Amino acid sequence: MKSSNFPLIISTWDFGMKANRVTWKILMSGGSSLDAVEKGINAVEKDPDVTSVGYGGIPNAEGYTELDAAIMSGPEHKAGAVAGLREIATPISVARKVMEKTNSILLVGEGAFEFALRNGFKRVDLLTGKARQKWLKWKRGKTAKKMDESHDTIGLLLLDSKRNIYAGCSTSGLAMKIPGRVGDSPIIGAGLYVDNEIGAAASTGFGEQTMMFCGSFLVVENMRRGMSPQRACEEVLRRMVSKGKEKWVGFIALNKEGEYAASSLKKEFPYAIYCKEEQIIQKSKIVKG
Ligand code: ASP
Repeated sequence: MKSSNFPLIISTWDFGMKANRVTWKILMSGGSSLDAVEKGINAVEKDPDVTSVGYGGIPNAEGYTELDAAIMSGPEHKAGAVAGLREIATPISVARKVMEKTNSILLVGEGAFEFALRNGFKRVDLLTGKARQKWLKWKRGKTAKKMDESHDTIGLLLLDSKRNIYAGCSTSGLAMKIPGRVGDSPIIGAGLYVDNEIGAAASTGFGEQTMMFCGSFLVVENMRRGMSPQRACEEVLRRMVSKGKEKWVGFIALNKEGEYAASSLKKEFPYAIYCKEEQIIQKSKIVKG
């Protein structure tokens, strides 16, 4: 797919549309691209009905909600990320502060939390009644579905009107994960990657698998070698399959020309596209296992 009109925003899952709308509004009112990415993702993080991102995210096995997020700016080739962050509802905003205010890229756990407090973030109980009920049910062994299949990251890619590229992602990770477990999302090159001359990618799904292939980096490198975003995503998924790794993973990608795509293993997922001509949800193309 291609848009010749910029800005172009694409993001993962149905809730991506909510993020895209906010991102678009900020861009149209003259806001910065980084603000647009951050605030778009904030809209999903703050939504208690989204149980895989931010406030209301499903907790880890001990009942604590631990959040991962990352942001990357193409023009400066800079990134910031947080992992295992507790009691802060908007981890993407903390990730941005890490990028802008420190010489580090990734802060984790207690250190990330203290950094957030020092930067004016409010301490919040992230565990909503709904998330707690799911956790209790799982603890009692009454959840039929395997909880490591219950997840979904918001990943958002922006090609702005100056044709600069930005990306962000945020998640509460795999439901009922081992305390301290960190997924792909805050790992630059795994959960997301931007090369301002080429394009960007972000992932959702089983993070351990994506990390083993530097998934988002590899999608962007495939585009550098001339592949379309569609083919670039599919090649990474095929490489996973060729090594016998077949857990569910999906990617979104766009390039500098405004071509975009999404692909996933065996099962499709929705992704949200927002530009001047269209604001739609589409399904990813499937790579068979
Ligand atoms: N990639 C996330 C993680 O592994 C979860 C997801 O997107 O489904 O933490």
